[in-house]
Amino acid sequence: MSQGIHGYGIRPYVRCDSDSEPSNGVRQDHERPDATVPTTPINHPAAILYPSEGSGLVAKPYVLRRGVPPPMPDVGQLAGNAAVQDAIARAWAASFLPNGAVIEQGGWVYWNPKSGDIQTRLATGGDQSSLEALGNPELIPGWIVVGTFHTHPNPLSAGFKIEPSSSDRWFGFLRGVPGLVATEYGLYSFGPPTRPGDKWQPGFPH
Ligand SMILES: [Zn+2]
Repeated sequence: MSQGIHGYGIRPYVRCDSDSEPSNGVRQDHERPDATVPTTPINHPAAILYPSEGSGLVAKPYVLRRGVPPPMPDVGQLAGNAAVQDAIARAWAASFLPNGAVIEQGGWVYWNPKSGDIQTRLATGGDQSSLEALGNPELIPGWIVVGTFHTHPNPLSAGFKIEPSSSDRWFGFLRGVPGLVATEYGLYSFGPPTRPGDKWQPGFPH
């Protein structure tokens, strides 16, 4: 198995699950009554957070408390982090080439266990429906990878599936960090809600 992620190729997706249809552009999370849908979390078209993996993706602040070791950020805190949002916006913008073609873009989210700081790195761009480079994170001494992000720029209107692919889900499960997928309808998540707290090497935990 190669290390990157693969989407759906160019085979159009035939929708068979009406529940996944973005009817009005906003999906409420019925599982969690306290869930909120931020109105402008990310600077890309229709930046709306969609629940995924059944648990719901809710952007929330990552808060550091004095005298308490920084907690491992979870996927919701990554989605709510300004640095992550900025990186996703840049990846989204870079997914649309001047010649009209689209390519997947993405990168990694790094967390400093001592300071609690969060930073990102962009990976080398992929092709229309895969991003091989995501499997090989740039290593930053003192920082660990706590998440990935990538784009699905192919339009739903052209028959493409935009939510996380089965390959994305395997990638998240096997590598052990949460992933975020930016689409024209907003942000999805896949993989575990957080990196396991007992693995501290700089790259992926697995
Ligand atoms: Zn993907």
